[in-house]
Amino acid sequence: MGKVLIIGAGGVGNVVVKKCAMNPEIFTDILLASRTLSKCEAIANEIGGNRVKTAQVDADNVPQLVALIESYRPDLVINVALPYQDLPIMDACLQTGVHYLDTANYEPKEEAKFEYSWQWAYKKRFEARGIMALLGCGFDPGVTGVFTAYAAKHHFSEMHYLDIVDCNAGSHGKAFATNFNPEINIREITQNGKYFENGEWIEIPPMSIHQPIPYPNIGERESYLLFHEELESLTKNFPTLKRARFWMTFGQQYITHLQVLQNVGMTSIKPIRYNGMDIVPLEFLKAVLPEPSSLGENYTGETSIGCQIKGLGKDGKDLTYFVYNNCSHAASFKEVQAQAVSYTTGVPAMIGAMMMLKGEWMRPGVYNVEEFNPDPFMDMLNKHGLPWHEQFNIDLPFEYPS
Ligand code: NDP
Repeated sequence: MGKVLIIGAGGVGNVVVKKCAMNPEIFTDILLASRTLSKCEAIANEIGGNRVKTAQVDADNVPQLVALIESYRPDLVINVALPYQDLPIMDACLQTGVHYLDTANYEPKEEAKFEYSWQWAYKKRFEARGIMALLGCGFDPGVTGVFTAYAAKHHFSEMHYLDIVDCNAGSHGKAFATNFNPEINIREITQNGKYFENGEWIEIPPMSIHQPIPYPNIGERESYLLFHEELESLTKNFPTLKRARFWMTFGQQYITHLQVLQNVGMTSIKPIRYNGMDIVPLEFLKAVLPEPSSLGENYTGETSIGCQIKGLGKDGKDLTYFVYNNCSHAASFKEVQAQAVSYTTGVPAMIGAMMMLKGEWMRPGVYNVEEFNPDPFMDMLNKHGLPWHEQFNIDLPFEYPS
């Protein structure tokens, strides 16, 4: 049905390629391209059978991307490199007339700030070119947007309060490691937190609001309020929301390491002069930390990510609702040799690509996932390894204005 070019051969890229390869009726041809060719070849060799072609590309370089796309002529480019590459890859898609999908919104390298404005600004040009961009199609962002759209479609007449709750209760046995790209992860956590309340964004010092939240099959875990990009699109696309927040768990060991690294300046993105060279401390730190793709073996425990929503049900009465998925690190490793954070990102990216190639989610322009019919995507989550569960009228662990 379609040819895909997947860019990025890291933790998430490994999962996307393997899941696409498992669905040959949709993904007839697959090309995996990344900065380091040997990583692409290692993944292709694990799949075997010459199913996946490989190429080297610098995705910051638009002419290189255009040449690669013109030589392969894919129907869709799946970008699972880093957020810095979003705009060059979108530019290359515009030049070549090819659809685009990613899992994280653009952020400039020199400033730790992520927002959709840069990518939403491509909407008219994508419309005029007759191509589509699907933004943020991992788990969070991604499935959390689909969950919210599903809740709005099937259960609520008005959604008022949204809390996205993300727990990794796994153990990889390393003293300190991040579950996705360390540079992106640390930039996200060390910036100010932010949430939406009564039409305004409220900014807070990093990690300064936290509380215990119970997670299914895991129990209570201390969870920290962070800004997360789906809050920006969900509050725009569901304007009845009075408050929208995002919570993530961190263990004490992780926080202590992060504090020490911050205190000694290792998380800074300002270049320093060292031995006649400019070095960015965070980039150097990334180089000594374990790669996310290397964490899968012997990783125990599971992740649990979901949306807790309060508002008025279809019958006009108060309703609380929780929709979530739990994902086991060991099961992910057994299936595709990845830990669950890569798995929960890569599977939705494959499903989003499937939605686009099948024409179920297809219209020219630039969109977030919650702007499409959630039902076929929700079905595919159940079929491709991320089953979800619902709870109604339960006590939620938050305070609400009376
Ligand atoms: P990794 O660091 O494991 O992989 C990133 C890959 O991109 C590496 O293979 C890297 O190449 C490649 N790359 C980086 N720069 C370039 C470039 N200029 N040209 C070509 N390739 C490049 O990260 P993850 O796989 O963990 O994360 C991938 C993406 O997924 C990130 O954008 C991350 O933010 C996003 N993500 C989204 C989530 C969600 O739920 N929505 C959750 C987790 C991650 P090399 O190997 O040479 O360094």
